[in-house]
Amino acid sequence: MTIRYTQPRLTGNEEKYIAKVLASGRLAGNGEYTRQCQELLEKETGYAKALLTNSCTAALEMAAILIDVKQGDEVIMPSFTFVSTANAFVLRGAIPVFVDVESGTFNIDPAMVASAITPKTKAIVAVNYAGIPCNMRVLSQLAKKHGLYLIEDAAQSYLSEPRNPEDRNLADFSALSFHETKNIVAGEGGALLVNSSSFIERAEIIWEKGTNRTKFSRGEVEKYSWVDIGSSFLPSEITAAFLLAQLEGAKEITADRILMWNEYHASCLPLQSKGHVQLPRIPESIFQNAHLYFVLAKNLDERADLLKHLNDDGVSAVHHYVPLHDSPAGLRFGRAFDALPNTDKVADTIVRLPLWSGMDIRDVKTVVSSLNSFYGELNE
Ligand SMILES: *Cc1c(COP(=O)(O)O)cnc(C)c1O
Repeated sequence: MTIRYTQPRLTGNEEKYIAKVLASGRLAGNGEYTRQCQELLEKETGYAKALLTNSCTAALEMAAILIDVKQGDEVIMPSFTFVSTANAFVLRGAIPVFVDVESGTFNIDPAMVASAITPKTKAIVAVNYAGIPCNMRVLSQLAKKHGLYLIEDAAQSYLSEPRNPEDRNLADFSALSFHETKNIVAGEGGALLVNSSSFIERAEIIWEKGTNRTKFSRGEVEKYSWVDIGSSFLPSEITAAFLLAQLEGAKEITADRILMWNEYHASCLPLQSKGHVQLPRIPESIFQNAHLYFVLAKNLDERADLLKHLNDDGVSAVHHYVPLHDSPAGLRFGRAFDALPNTDKVADTIVRLPLWSGMDIRDVKTVVSSLNSFYGELNE
């Protein structure tokens, strides 16, 4: 028996909603389920507008178009992230400037962002690693001071938020993912959240292939035509129907993940206090969505041995990102601002453990037993 690394959790209404779409005969996107998902997301996040997309990748690409990033512009982002964070801007000719992450949260280091700003900088991208919101207060102050856009890659952080309401919704654009590996899933899916209402009209145009079709469907124009650049960013109603069921159950899914997370954390604390591993640190100032649980081994070799040990015990533990700054495309299209020691360290040592809603809490104990046996410790 293998303990899976992740597994989507169905809430019960997915099939019913999809059946309604099939019966309606209206399968294309931007229909009733899309509208309901968007309304729910707007209510939940407090952003002025939500637009469902085919992926977080697509939402980031929309953000890159919306900020008019041009050839040679620089976009500051962490190296420790998924390729889409950088690709979206490289597609528009921009240069990703990779900075380090903080050693506690593995989120972008605001001090290094401040040093990396040049007259060519157009935007900062904050990636909420492991669902932990970045220090958006400091990042938005920096963005304001230098006239930059602040974009949030919130692929992993739906339903996480700062405790202080004043620290929420500080990004100009936020990109969510509903990929099957995330907390709330649609197979493939995402959303772009828009902060300022001044961007909504253009966002809708870019979303609908560069046409004003959304205005047309609201009866605001006589016919629709090609008015700007854009692409096919919107998902079908089948995806939206599935997603609505997920979004309606999102709090329950998240609460269950938090239970698993807390169980891991309590059970792994002795391994940390004995100096074997480093555990995640959650800032006091935020609520988290328990997207990931991980331990950091001491070095690359120990990590390889630990992964093998866990896998041999039937535990699907995995490493994570290869840093972008020294990946083949990262070297070709971007540059590292400086040495990135925290990025290199976390990339070499992280071990992500199985965590999903619906997981048996006894499986958490099995995983921790395997960790304990690797480090020669007895189970509590
Ligand atoms: C998963 C992920 C993405 C990509 O999401 P898709 O919906 O698959 O495009 C982008 N950025 C980060 C940080 C992610 O974790």
